[in-house]
Amino acid sequence: MENINKSIQCTVEQCRHHCVNCDYCSLDRIRIGTHESNPSQDQCTDCLSFSAAY
Ligand code: SF4
Repeated sequence: MENINKSIQCTVEQCRHHCVNCDYCSLDRIRIGTHESNPSQDQCTDCLSFSAAY
């Protein structure tokens, strides 16, 4: 049974760290960053712990 971290909600089902059949991450912690020089909205941020599903 994989870990479900209820402190990290996530809807990215294509990530290998996404728990099956629930909207949570399975990692203990994640790293967030940005690809923008001056982020101004949520689309500017990225989950740097994302990893494509198998
Ligand atoms: S690593 Fe990031 S994208 Fe992947 S399930 Fe966790 S929070 Fe979502």
